[in-house]
Amino acid sequence: MIKQELEELQNKGQLRKIPDIQSKSNGKIVIAGKEYINFASNDYLGLSTKDDLRKEFLEHNDSLLSTASARLLTGSSPEYKELEATVAGIFNKEAALIFNTGYQCNLGVISALIGRGDVVFSDKLNHASIIDGMQLAQGDFFRYKHFDYENLEKLLESKRGQYKRALIVSESVFSMDGDIADIDKLVELKKKYNCLLMIDEAHAFCTAGNTPAGISYGRDVDIITATFGKAVGSFGAFCVSNEDIISYLINKARSFIFSTSIPPLNIAWSNWLLTEKRDFILSQKQKLTDLIINVHKQLNESGVMTPSESQIIPIVIGSNEAALKLSEKLLAEGYYIPAIRPPTVPEGTSRLRISLTADSLLKDFSKLLDIIKTVVP
Ligand code: PMP
Repeated sequence: MIKQELEELQNKGQLRKIPDIQSKSNGKIVIAGKEYINFASNDYLGLSTKDDLRKEFLEHNDSLLSTASARLLTGSSPEYKELEATVAGIFNKEAALIFNTGYQCNLGVISALIGRGDVVFSDKLNHASIIDGMQLAQGDFFRYKHFDYENLEKLLESKRGQYKRALIVSESVFSMDGDIADIDKLVELKKKYNCLLMIDEAHAFCTAGNTPAGISYGRDVDIITATFGKAVGSFGAFCVSNEDIISYLINKARSFIFSTSIPPLNIAWSNWLLTEKRDFILSQKQKLTDLIINVHKQLNESGVMTPSESQIIPIVIGSNEAALKLSEKLLAEGYYIPAIRPPTVPEGTSRLRISLTADSLLKDFSKLLDIIKTVVP
């Protein structure tokens, strides 16, 4: 039965395999002994593979490699408090709570806040962790069409009154489309319909907006979640909010309560980067921003269609087979850009998700675009 299902996935072009990755650095990746230009990384500022940074950090830090416990037992340490203060400060919020991953963060926050008689209104293209959080939560949920805030308002008008607590949730920079939500509009709607607003800044934290924060900074967003596993080049995730909500999550978020916490060494690494290396983060962010502007200019001139407004650039192909074929062709040309297929993206929208980092080179993108233009009208 399992074999048969695997065969079905294979026949549909949806079977996934873990690539044989050997090393990564400076915008390159070595897979099965061959080096490729890496256009698939979420290490948007290139921090995770900078040897000099890692060495400098390790010279001064000998934090423990395990907590051997959840935070509420013996798994907390001063490193946690410092990092929580740092991220709360970055977003100018009262408090923060670290989760082990962004997945566990979204899952825990939504399922804690939304109980029986409550409701979530979620953008249809929100990340799997948000969908799974809504499914785990005991309340109801409605998914509005991607970026269709009229559709959201209609849902709010007809449904909001039937529930106690209501949560509107959206990503800021969308993970598979690279387009950016209208946070001001969402703030307007959450106020009008008395909802909490939660924004997932996983792909915007340290890459978008005017500070190292993200797009929600300075806006009336109740709960912001983000990960340290992408632009910060580390691991783990956090939620920032007011003190009551954070205390509530400490008491109710099961993915926080019932899981051994992240090793302090890793927490210290995230904090060191965000504090001691803030200037480097800002200079890498500027490099990325300049690259994004130039790349989008080239995309506009080329006529290749993409919804992107950020470092994430999807080239939507359609079928799994065609997306896989293009990905293989690009691999043969020296570019690593895996095909993204359902269930990560909706059926019929399989794509190449080009991901720019501060280490990507414009000339590499230009060559890549030349190849893509021969395939995609
Ligand atoms: N939210 C979004 C929008 C994401 O893209 C991701 C990761 N792909 C996550 C949350 C999960 O973060 P993490 O990898 O830290 O679990």
